[in-house]
Amino acid sequence: MTITTRFAPSPTGPLHLGHAYSALLAFDLARAQAGSFLLRIEDIDRSRARPEWETQIYDDLHWLGIDWQEPVMRQSDRLEIYSTAIQGLWDAGLLFACDCKRRDILEAASAPQEGGSPVVGPDGVVYPGTCRTKGLKFGEGALRLNMPKAVQMVEQSALQFVDDGRVVLFDKQDLLDSVGDIVLMRQDMGTSYHLSVVIDDAAQGVTLVSRGEDLREATKIHIVLQRLIDLPSPEYLHHKLIRDDAGKRLAKRDDARAIARYRSEGASAKDIRRWVGL
Ligand code: GLU
Repeated sequence: MTITTRFAPSPTGPLHLGHAYSALLAFDLARAQAGSFLLRIEDIDRSRARPEWETQIYDDLHWLGIDWQEPVMRQSDRLEIYSTAIQGLWDAGLLFACDCKRRDILEAASAPQEGGSPVVGPDGVVYPGTCRTKGLKFGEGALRLNMPKAVQMVEQSALQFVDDGRVVLFDKQDLLDSVGDIVLMRQDMGTSYHLSVVIDDAAQGVTLVSRGEDLREATKIHIVLQRLIDLPSPEYLHHKLIRDDAGKRLAKRDDARAIARYRSEGASAKDIRRWVGL
């Protein structure tokens, strides 16, 4: 099987050293095995995505010496595909609508019967299940995955993924306790990161997803979704995060580490490779 990797940035700010590492790693992995490297623009958050950032991404990646197969996939072109998947999950009774506010969730998750302090999972505070039995209609709120139902639908033996060549197993209880009823459709987006990423990695035929280790827990969500919507699972490689001098991971707003900034200061792509340890 030939390898296909991808880099999937969101055009919501400048690419920084952490993105450069992630993109270069995925590109190198594909090139080392004469495979394909793909680019996907994750622009479902219309309130934050900007065309200028998208242009800057292409520019920075080219400058880094990266090229990719055309056409580039853009998530904002695929909203109908996500909505069909959402409808299928809704029809299968796997979703429920939720009109809780962030504050309600935090309060309910902090109640004494929930243990007093909220559990934070890969998608934020683990949802306390408030709306699961409320019977709200489609459209009456965000749509959440009914995790207790979802775990009934998947085989325990299917709850595993390959991470950097090693098999990682996780169990249903873990999903209930530390992931919970995650949002699969935000009302303002018509989809969510988790749903789109799973559908698109499959649509692009990605065989190896390399991305930051901050997403390792989220991979459990992606495996469950792949099982529920019957999609193949790629292999994964969760790589180190590039941190600033104080050891903090870089954020989009870290303009000081923006590739564009290094470029304007006369650095070369080779310098960037060296700084990130490639
Ligand atoms: N758009 C996501 C990000 O920039 C992609 C994460 C992933 O690679 O799955 O964090």
